[in-house]
Amino acid sequence: KPVIYWVRRDFRIGDNAALSAACATGRPVIPVFICDEVVESHGAAPKFRLGEGVRVFGAALAVVGSRLVLRRGDALAVLREVVAQTGATGVYWNRLYDPASKARDTGVKAALKADGVEVASFTGHLLFEPWTVETKTGGFYRVFTPLWKTVRGRDVATPIPAPASVPAPDVWPTSDRLDDWALGAAMVRGRDVLAAHICVGEAAARTRLETFIEGRVQSYQTNRDLPGVDGTSRLSENLTYGEISPAVCWHAGWAAIHSGKGQAEIFCKELVWREFAYHLVHHTPHIVDRNWKEGWDSFPWNTEDTAEVIAWKQGRTGIAFVDAAMREMYVSGTMHNRGRMIVASYLTKHLMTHWKVGQAWFDDCLTDWDPASNAMGWQWAAGSGPDAAPYFRVFNPVTQLDKFDRAGLYARTWIAEGQGDAPDTALSYFDAIPKNWGLAATDQYPAPVVDMATGRQRALEAYKGRDF
Ligand code: FAD
Repeated sequence: KPVIYWVRRDFRIGDNAALSAACATGRPVIPVFICDEVVESHGAAPKFRLGEGVRVFGAALAVVGSRLVLRRGDALAVLREVVAQTGATGVYWNRLYDPASKARDTGVKAALKADGVEVASFTGHLLFEPWTVETKTGGFYRVFTPLWKTVRGRDVATPIPAPASVPAPDVWPTSDRLDDWALGAAMVRGRDVLAAHICVGEAAARTRLETFIEGRVQSYQTNRDLPGVDGTSRLSENLTYGEISPAVCWHAGWAAIHSGKGQAEIFCKELVWREFAYHLVHHTPHIVDRNWKEGWDSFPWNTEDTAEVIAWKQGRTGIAFVDAAMREMYVSGTMHNRGRMIVASYLTKHLMTHWKVGQAWFDDCLTDWDPASNAMGWQWAAGSGPDAAPYFRVFNPVTQLDKFDRAGLYARTWIAEGQGDAPDTALSYFDAIPKNWGLAATDQYPAPVVDMATGRQRALEAYKGRDF
């Protein structure tokens, strides 16, 4: 009797607790990926990237003698169908923590158990289960640093080696064709634009980690804030789709620390920011779609696609740091962390626009889109979240660029206007954007849509007298 391994955001064979447990039963294993409403709810770029992850994972499973069965529909209905078709007696998966997945999984677990099917869920998406990290008084953490101090010295289980083979059933259930799902169809800019920038699959993710640990991690603390320098790991897209486990990254980080690369500790600390985001999502799920501090509900946020907001999305606010970052995201599907902080601050403060407007645009554009880190990042920038940047502390994107991109590398990489010999990256933006945006590399660079001082003042006026 086979076991179903329900694949979700864990496109890897190594350090995959659910897959290894399924293999350890000695029974045939049927990996199934379901395109259900949680998948359908993603924006264009995340959906496209997920499809590429599915494709590469299917090929990786074939190498170990298995397959990835694809089905579309309600998760419970599909799982029941596959159970009925194959006689499977168990369903295993690695846990997810965002509210939509959790609600779905709780329902699926209860229903399958009632059907008499063995159900088991495992840790894999996080280093520490959110409920195992507690303050001294037994509550959850609202502030990062004490959480970091609590988990910093904790043991993280040694990664589980990849099974050499995955036992196959005698007869495979039918599978949809991935191309029929058209997961990249919603992308206005066409799949080729982002395809040039993504790095898909477990093997690619491991190489990425190794290259980073061998080289850039030594100067990570120094360079990670410089958007014009390739100083970070770029592993977020792989962690998002589980192409590498956080435990593998964590152990690689600590091994580097022990071999004298002290700056690797900051890398491990950043991995814990991701944990913190999920910790918050687990304990306060409303963080993903409502102001974490509800006092912010009465703030006079703009929620419309005003001309200023459209300029923000299109990377033509006339503020170089904001525009460089927004263009980087549109073309490459990713954005440097400092860029994310700056564009989010600019949208929520200088343009006084609700963070959910920005969150939705990021959900359309980012190939590393993650429900927890994204929501936490936006609420941090807006001031509405826990451990957030206070609203009255308004980043100045002009002085920030001066500080973090002194030589102008980042701006030149992404802004073509005004450069005689603009680099391909900057020009590729004009190839990627829809024709009806009506922009050309030969245009004049726009004047600021909002004067820095006026925008700042407007935000501070609106904030005055409020105490959240
Ligand atoms: P590195 O610097 O190499 O860090 C290693 C890993 O640590 C990252 O891959 C990531 O998993 C984690 N990490 C690092 N910084 C953070 C952080 N601030 N919060 C949570 N985890 C972190 N990250 C996403 O993965 N998906 C998102 O959708 C996302 N949206 C964001 C939105 C806003 C407004 C902000 C301010 C930040 C957002 N981040 C998001 C966090 C951060 O910007 C990215 O994780 C980081 O830029 C990824 O680059 P990297 O992999 O090279 O990171």
